[in-house]
Amino acid sequence: MTAVHENQDAVTIDNYIGGDWRAPAAGERMPSLNPAKRGEVVGMAAASDLTDLDEAVKAADAALRAWRKLTGAQRGALLFKAADLLESRMETVGRAMTREMGKTLGEAKGETARGAAILRYYAGEGMRPIGDVIPSTDAEALMFTTRAPLGVVGVISPWNFPVAIPVWKMAPALIYGNTVVWKPAVETAATAALVMQCFHDAGFSAGVVNMVLGDGAVIGQGIAAHPGIHAVTFTGSNRVGKQVGQAALARGAKYQLEMGGKNPIIVAADADLDLAVDATISGGLRSTGQKCTATSRVIVLSGVYETFREKLLAKVKALRVGDGLDAETWLGPCASAKQYETVMRYINKGIEEGAELLTGGKQPDDPALSEGYFVAPAVFDKVTPTMTIAREEIFGPVLALIEARDMAEAIALANDTEYGLSASLYTRDLGSALSFIQETDAGLVRVNAETAGVELQAPFGGMKGSSSHSREQGQAAIEFYTSVKTVFMKP
Ligand code: NAD
Repeated sequence: MTAVHENQDAVTIDNYIGGDWRAPAAGERMPSLNPAKRGEVVGMAAASDLTDLDEAVKAADAALRAWRKLTGAQRGALLFKAADLLESRMETVGRAMTREMGKTLGEAKGETARGAAILRYYAGEGMRPIGDVIPSTDAEALMFTTRAPLGVVGVISPWNFPVAIPVWKMAPALIYGNTVVWKPAVETAATAALVMQCFHDAGFSAGVVNMVLGDGAVIGQGIAAHPGIHAVTFTGSNRVGKQVGQAALARGAKYQLEMGGKNPIIVAADADLDLAVDATISGGLRSTGQKCTATSRVIVLSGVYETFREKLLAKVKALRVGDGLDAETWLGPCASAKQYETVMRYINKGIEEGAELLTGGKQPDDPALSEGYFVAPAVFDKVTPTMTIAREEIFGPVLALIEARDMAEAIALANDTEYGLSASLYTRDLGSALSFIQETDAGLVRVNAETAGVELQAPFGGMKGSSSHSREQGQAAIEFYTSVKTVFMKP
């Protein structure tokens, strides 16, 4: 498996184990499908079993000793090479991503470029300090901390950011001296294989990075439970995350979970309404609303509610839905039949529970789109905080408008959720901004910026049900991917 081309027969996507592309032991395959064209198979991915996983863990374990002995600069040089390769293949990787999960080609290429930037960031980390000197009470002693890798790291990633998320897990794992067994989402198996090919071509030694494709319940759970995997990093839904966390905890492995969100944007009465409308649309509907940081609840202060709603509606109605490969498209399809059905179920639930659907929420009228899992972006009015669409993560192009009397009520509404990933406020008032920053229970708090769109050098993660409370990205990553050693040394 080396490349994915458009309009070609489905590619075969093997596992990558011990430096080789290998067919699954049992020979089973599962399809990766194009959500814009029902029935179009992009790739036939390995449907691995635990034999394949065992092979990958053995390869990762065998590679560990030599890999952790390299200097950070040596490991970084390989990450720099992988970054260059990923960047130079942006078009191919972007096209595969768009065909597999529907985001527009512009977004898909942007994500690939971000993947390269993340690799470069961690390549540089290989040259930065990893410990402190601590004054000892013993005059003859030297006391300091250093960091040790954890061993074999299991990476379980979702389909919605099929390049950026696994790269922001694998790059820090590798730079700090761990080896990796990665299970991508099968929906984006072809994209994953292209990422893996970059690592292969960059010259990583056999076994340092491995990829095992397959069903989540088999390979994902297999990683969580495998005694040869020392740490597990997971991004995906809360339901699965809890199972992964429990399996890892049961055998004493380190784990990290990044999960869902029900992210609010608050629009204050003094906000620049045009900017707030653009942020709501970009934060809520880019990637067809399939971001963990997507804006989902739009909490608007009474004085400006009607004006904001009408401005929002006019712009949402003008968004062009279509195949992400079409340059005119602003919003692609839902990523799969399953996502489409979930989104439609929530839209129907919203209507049943008494919210008013102002626009969208059904297949677009364009007959050319009847072959894909398209949903015209939906805006619900008169949403109350107890409705299902105000409480559960939808992961689709659906915005729920909620009216608040004042800023205190708006912040209380923003916090009225089991999640706590991202929250945004549009205001010109410093006092409101400060109250919001101090009182909002979210890992990412954003003032006059959309809920999505995080920077790779800053800590990323959620509070409450959104996360296991560790942080990814930037300097925060070292905390998960290493163990601190306190050294006390005397002559
Ligand atoms: P998912 O939980 O269904 O799958 C995530 C990964 O887990 C996939 O690789 C999947 O194959 C695997 N998996 C499935 N069942 C498993 C099991 N029983 N045991 C172990 N692994 C299993 O999630 P998804 O539908 O791929 O992604 C969407 C979800 O991811 C949303 O809830 C979204 O909010 C969340 N997400 C969170 C972040 C974040 O950083 N907080 C980022 C992106 C997506």
